[in-house]
Amino acid sequence: MSGTQPAAIIAIANQKGGVGKTTTAINLSAALAELGHRVLLVDLDPQGNSSTGLGVDQSDRQVSTYDLILDGASPVSVVRPTRVEGLFISPANADLSSADIEIVSSERRSFLLRDALRQNEMEPYGFDYIFIDCPPSLSLLTVNALVAADSVLVPLQSEFFALEGLSQLMLTIREVRQSANPNLRIEGVVLTMYDVRNNLSQQVEKDARETLGELVFKTVIPRNVRLSEAPSFALSVLQYDGSSRGAESYRALAQEIAGRRGLPARKE
Ligand code: ADP
Ligand code: MG
Repeated sequence: MSGTQPAAIIAIANQKGGVGKTTTAINLSAALAELGHRVLLVDLDPQGNSSTGLGVDQSDRQVSTYDLILDGASPVSVVRPTRVEGLFISPANADLSSADIEIVSSERRSFLLRDALRQNEMEPYGFDYIFIDCPPSLSLLTVNALVAADSVLVPLQSEFFALEGLSQLMLTIREVRQSANPNLRIEGVVLTMYDVRNNLSQQVEKDARETLGELVFKTVIPRNVRLSEAPSFALSVLQYDGSSRGAESYRALAQEIAGRRGLPARKE
């Protein structure tokens, strides 16, 4: 039920760009909202792709995630509804690109997002899930996401060397556990842009499952053109083409995540 337990805060992180973080942030959020959950997507990438993909105009981003973490802005002035029922967003703009430098000198530099999300003003929203779409780096912004989060979801592009890139992220996760957030879990690794006809995809999947075992989600996200088209219409893939393989795969991922938490669908 809404608001009876604290939101599950999940950072979507991988320091590589173009691996499907934003696509996963938008469509997994929308799929959980479709199940009846209340979801907040925090856009923490200065590029603001999640915000654009969900139809927040540049002109409507004067107040953004930057203000939430650096200016102590009230969530009420930052968080806004999207066209997806039950899905809210804290949009990003280019202001965030200087945030890394601005927060270095702050005493609570790693805790700014955690502090922001724990404000009392957040409670009335009754979010079940808060996703954080991270920038493609292991910068202070990403560290803020890892400190604020209960768990990390890692999109892994089904391509050569995908696994090699993971060790750096895992190292950062270990450091954050030691310094600031001992309970940080790994929500799971999701294979993205998977091509069944491509031997390489199958090899990456085999390697990932052998190396990471249960951490790899059963659901695999296929390479699907609908997923790349949807953001230019400012729609989630569920709205853009709800019966596409891309839409079905993100619904399955949502079920996998909600199922583990014992937070079943709230509506049929
Ligand atoms: P990141 O946020 O990690 O940089 P994106 O989610 O923006 O990655 O994805 C990079 C590009 O790949 C985007 O153009 C996106 O539309 C496309 N893309 C992502 N996932 C898929 C997929 N499963 N099938 C097809 N295109 C995809
Ligand atoms: Mg992105």
